[in-house]
Amino acid sequence: MEIEIHTPRNPELPDLRYQRIFLVGERLVFIGFWTFSDIGIDVTKNRERFFNSFTVNESEVNSFSDSDTADGPDNNGAYNFGLFLGQLLFFVVLGGLLLAAVLLAWFMIKRQRKNRSEAAIIPGPKPPKEAKIACPNCETTNNCDSKYCKGCGYPLPKEE
Ligand SMILES: [Zn+2]
Repeated sequence: MEIEIHTPRNPELPDLRYQRIFLVGERLVFIGFWTFSDIGIDVTKNRERFFNSFTVNESEVNSFSDSDTADGPDNNGAYNFGLFLGQLLFFVVLGGLLLAAVLLAWFMIKRQRKNRSEAAIIPGPKPPKEAKIACPNCETTNNCDSKYCKGCGYPLPKEE
C-alpha cells in the first residue's frame, strides 16, 4: 500500500511525500520518502529507486521489534553490555576532558608565573653601556661608542 501526501501549506516540509505501508506478518512497516525538491527531478524514478533499495522480510522485522520491547535474559545481557560500553566510553571521554582542563590550567599558571618572574628580573630601563674598547692601533682604552681613538685618531671598529 502506498499513500501520497501533499503538504503545500508548510514551508518547512517538502511539498510532496510518499509513505508506503507494508503488512509484514502481523506488523505494519512504514517507509517514508520525502521529496526535498520536486522541481527538475524525476520524483517517481527516485522514489522507485528508494523503495527498491532495500527489502523487508518477516524475520528481520520480527527480530527488530522483539529487541525493542523484549525483556528476555539474552536481550538484557546484550543491553547491559551496551550500557556498560556506553558508560565506559562516557567516563573515558569525561576523564580526557578533565585531564585536558587540568593541563590547560597548569600551563596557564606556569605561563603567568614565568611572566611575573621576567617582570621581576627587569626592574626598569636598561642601565647605560659602559664597556670599553682598546684601540687596535695604539692600545688606548676608548669608550666603545666613540668613533675614533682619543689617543691617535684611528677609526675604531664598531661594536655591536
Ligand atoms: Zn689609538
